[in-house]
This record gives sequence, structure tokens and C-alpha cells, in this order.
Amino acid sequence: MSDTPAAPLIWTNVLMFVLTALIALIGVPWYGLVHGFSAADWAVAVLFTGANGMAITAGYHRLWAHRSYDAHWSVRLLYLLFGTMSLQNSAFAWCSGHRAHHLHVDDDARDPYSARRGFWFSHIGWMLREYPSGKPDFANIPDLRRDPLLVFQHRYYVPLALATNFGLPLLAGLLFGDVWGMLLLAGFLRLVWSHHVTFFINSLAHMWGRQPYTEDNTARDNGLLAVVTYGEGYHNFHHLFAHDYRNGVRWWQWDPTKWLIAALSLFGLTRRLKRTPAFQIQRALLAMQFSRAKARLAHLPAGTHSHLEPLRARLAHEYESFLAALADWARVKEEWLAEKKRAVLDKWRQSDLQGRLRDIERRLSLQRRRLRLLQAQLA
Ligand SMILES: [Zn+2]
Ligand SMILES: [Zn+2]
Repeated sequence: MSDTPAAPLIWTNVLMFVLTALIALIGVPWYGLVHGFSAADWAVAVLFTGANGMAITAGYHRLWAHRSYDAHWSVRLLYLLFGTMSLQNSAFAWCSGHRAHHLHVDDDARDPYSARRGFWFSHIGWMLREYPSGKPDFANIPDLRRDPLLVFQHRYYVPLALATNFGLPLLAGLLFGDVWGMLLLAGFLRLVWSHHVTFFINSLAHMWGRQPYTEDNTARDNGLLAVVTYGEGYHNFHHLFAHDYRNGVRWWQWDPTKWLIAALSLFGLTRRLKRTPAFQIQRALLAMQFSRAKARLAHLPAGTHSHLEPLRARLAHEYESFLAALADWARVKEEWLAEKKRAVLDKWRQSDLQGRLRDIERRLSLQRRRLRLLQAQLA
């Protein structure tokens, strides 16, 4: 883009990132060698790091940017406190930019951290200059602007950010008798680490990993990234089903953020958790598998591979039964809705319809297994 090199630098951001990184990379090891860190320094640093990370993923991201569930005010207050401490701007600015990212993903002119502009830009470069694509437009957060807690945070963001970043480590330092050690570890190292792991979701999670749900955008699923990002590494799923409170949708996928939200719901502290219906997830997975198998077949030259004919026929047959399952699902669902509307849906009928829907889901999941085998034969 021709306008990018000319965009003016945002000096406060440049200095903040450079100075905090230098202190974390040089000051922390130096102090560690000369004075050493106590167990309390490490413990508080780990605690603050986790609290910062989860305040961003569960609070800024899944609650405020995507509204994937509701949370009690006490939980929101904690998100706000530790979200402010993570120094990633106010929830207004963060969520507005993130909603633009989802709506215009990979559009270099409108996605504030488009991964198509490279690793550096999507990781941190987008915050260093006044790019037109990063210009905040709070028109996309009318719901957040009605929340007095968030209005307060936005208005007093700078003093609140300074108070949490220096105040909390200072307090812990006084408590455990090691102010400098605590400031370096629970202050600077915690901040720089939290920054970069969050930034990985905009950079690496759009470049490195699998695309099981969609190829319409650059987002990837990456189990390794999920470990350091509290579950946000399952970014391919997230971009297709952004309203879901889970990013790692399978029960075994590492997503501490979803576990936190689900655990809080047991105490009534979070409510109305949004889940994507299993059918929609299966449909997306299968559609991707079909398009990949078809592409692979199309790439193999015809004629010379006579053994491919039966595979081709099987794929066509599978695709037909996929379409039939989708039609069945739509029919049963329509029946259900129509009966619900007429208020004739009794308990027995409801469980009958639910059973039929579950049957279709089972059919799709069996089909996914067959397609995997088929794809292995095509490889
Ligand atoms: Zn993304
Ligand atoms: Zn998102």
C-alpha cells in the first residue's frame, strides 16, 4: 500500500513498546543475576500474567467484543481491572477495532490488523503508526457505550493504566519486601509477555495452522498457540462462529477461557452462554472436506489413473447423501418451528423431533469419518 510508509509514527506507543521490551530483555536478567528473584516475585508475576490474559480473552474479547455470554458486575469489574492493567487500550478502542477486524477480515484498507500486510504489521506495526485502517470508529460499539463501567474506563484510561501497572506490583513488592524485583517481574516482564502472546492471535493465528472450518479468511486453528493464549489459538473456528463463547469447541481442546466462563456459570456469575449448534459445526467441517477432496481429484490427471474412478464415484455419492442430510435437517427443523408456532408441540413430539435431528447429526459425523478415509486414499 502506498500510504503505509508515510503514516506518521505514534511516539507514545513506540516508546512504550521499546522501553518495556528493553527493561524486560535486559533489566530483568541483569537483576536476576545480581540480586535474584524470590519465589513470591515469580508467583505474583504468574498470577498477574494469567489475570491479564484471561481479562483480555474472557472479558475484552468474548464478553465485550462478541457478547457471547452475560456476566455479573463483579466479574466485569475484575475483567476491567486486569484488562486495564494489560495495557491494550480501553475496552472501547479494543472492541471497536476487533469488531472491524471480524467484519472486514483480510481487507487491507479496513481490517486494522490485516494479516495480509505481513507478520510485523499484524503483530505490532499497526499500533506504531497512524494508519487510516486503524482509525477508531466507535459507531460499531453502541452497546458498550451504554455501559457506565466502560465509559468510566475509557475516560480515565491513562491514569487507570498507570495506577494498575505500577500500583499493583508496587503493592505486592511492599507486601513481600522486594519492590524492585516485583516491579521488574510482575510489572515489566508480565506486561511484555502478555502483550506479545495476545498479539500472536492477530499475527501467527492468521498464518500458521490448519483451516478445518473455512478457507474464506486467513484465520488458523493452532493447538500450540492455544496453550500460550488461553485458548484463543483456535482462531479458524472463532472467525466462522464468533458468537460462540468457546474457541476450542471440542471438549479436549485447550481453552481455559471457555472453562472459566463455564465454571462461573455454575455459580450464576455468567449466564446465557452462546453455543453453535453441533449441526452447523458438522456442516462446516464436511463442506471443507468435500471441497478439499474435490480439489485433490481435479489435480490428478484423468485417464492414467483408472483406480481413481471408483473414488470419484464414491465422493459423488457421499456428496449426494450430504446434501440429502442437509435437506432432511431443514425439513425437520421447519416442522418443529411450525408446530411451535401453532403451539401444538407436546413433550413427546418435541423429543421425537429432537431425536430425528440428533440422528442426522450422527449421520454427518459418520460421513466425516468416511471422508477422512477417502482423503487418505487420495493422498
Ligand atoms: Zn482474527
Ligand atoms: Zn474475535
